[in-house]
Amino acid sequence: MINYGNYIGGKWDREGTEYEIVSPINGKVFAKAVKASEAKTREAIDIAYEARGKWEAFTVSKRKKIFRRMVQIFEERMDDYARIEAENTGRTLRQSVFMDTNIALEHMKYFSTTNEFRASRKIKHPEYPQSYGIVQNMPIGVVGAITPWNVPLLMAVWKIFPALLAGNTMVLKPSHYTPATTFELVSDLEKAGLPEGVLNVVTGEGSVIGKALAQSEKVRGLSFTGSTETGRTVTRNAAGTIKKIVMELGGKSPNIVLEDADLERAAKGVLFGIFLHSGQLCESGSRLLVQSSIKDKFLKMLAFYADKMKGGDPLDMDTDIGAITTFDQYGKINKMMEKAVDDGANVYFRKNLKGNVPEGGFYIGPTILDNLSPRMEIASEEVFGPVLSVLEFESLDEAAEIANQSNYGLACGIWSKDNKKAIDLANRIYAGTVWINDYHLISAAAPRGGFGNSGIGRELGREGIYEFTESRHFFVSDQDNELVDLSFGLIVSD
Ligand code: NAD
Repeated sequence: MINYGNYIGGKWDREGTEYEIVSPINGKVFAKAVKASEAKTREAIDIAYEARGKWEAFTVSKRKKIFRRMVQIFEERMDDYARIEAENTGRTLRQSVFMDTNIALEHMKYFSTTNEFRASRKIKHPEYPQSYGIVQNMPIGVVGAITPWNVPLLMAVWKIFPALLAGNTMVLKPSHYTPATTFELVSDLEKAGLPEGVLNVVTGEGSVIGKALAQSEKVRGLSFTGSTETGRTVTRNAAGTIKKIVMELGGKSPNIVLEDADLERAAKGVLFGIFLHSGQLCESGSRLLVQSSIKDKFLKMLAFYADKMKGGDPLDMDTDIGAITTFDQYGKINKMMEKAVDDGANVYFRKNLKGNVPEGGFYIGPTILDNLSPRMEIASEEVFGPVLSVLEFESLDEAAEIANQSNYGLACGIWSKDNKKAIDLANRIYAGTVWINDYHLISAAAPRGGFGNSGIGRELGREGIYEFTESRHFFVSDQDNELVDLSFGLIVSD
């Protein structure tokens, strides 16, 4: 059994409360870790603070060289990472192999080669032709990063690589439910040559460690991914200090199917949108908005394909349906579904998994609910589970109106054979990412984040890298700048 400590200053630290990490696949303990204290978190922050100078002294190309060595190490260990991620989160091994670890690898490659980040650039000042400027993008200093339990490996990659590329040091707190692959990453990064203390990983209770990160004066930037409610608490805790904050929060994303869509592709895409990792993805397409003229036909297609989804041991490469990552989340999803039925929802489809999945694990069959109105809780609040809420619309105006009737604005899918029509509709929807005839695919080159209660700031892409910087401007005046005489003359007249 793997026994993780916290990773501070290049060493495993076992001080704190040891606890067991349960695999949701069968409810059995698969690893152990240590919940750190507030004092231990402060120790990690101090170490990251001390390490700033040595990491800033590395040029951007030297940082990327370390990342490229990490890519090699990761490539050799991808099978281990895939298995650990699946065992810890309950996602299917097939998803872990073909999505999580593959995307992690591609995104590490991106950050080890991209030229999007420039630490310094020369600019002209149009108002003052006899001068020039140097704009520098400096590291913020120590960045505190907090990740949720659902996609731990990718979330860690998305925070670590851009922040370190820009020259920051970091204390990262993975969720205590799923810290395993983040610990693997930090120890492999040091094997790749990352100096000690640049990246420190400390897990435990959010209310202890997350709070200490938010309240620390030494932590100058905070990158948080989690629920909207926790995001509010984190912001309140950070309010006593002045720091840069990026928040990637919850969603209730619409997946809109127009009557002219390729319905076969759309049906599989809508199922992919909601049932990947059992709906436990922030951008899951949890609201199906289907045009009334095709609703009956489309729902039949959805049920037909959903019924083909295979339950089984998630570690078996043939299994399609994974587990719910935590027992608490399992209870929350069931409660929300019961309330929906009490409120008048109709269970249009539910996959029966009885006898088909490992004993002791946390499983909920993919479920499709209809007879809903947009304001019902199940159709407006994040469930974070394998539950698709069906709503219908007549016109594109109505589709846009229902899509925007949400406090969230994270993502959206649009299915139509007419790309222009789909893009026109996309222009009217407040969402950080819109997929047209696709879903869930995330590019490291593109910014990702949300409108409204889905967050502030962006992750990934050029925008995401610059979130981890503080810009500085040098104004350099030519010796013979005539404007100097003019402006100084305002105060010292000849
Ligand atoms: P959560 O908000 O409960 O926890 C997220 C992280 O915050 C965990 O590490 C947790 O320990 C920590 N935390 C808890 N209390 C804290 C506090 N008081 N101060 C600081 N940190 C604290 O979320 P979760 O249940 O782990 O994850 C699911 C949520 O995350 C969903 O709402 C989902 O939509 C969201 N999410 C968003 C994105 C995105 O990119 N927008 C991605 C994945 C998940």
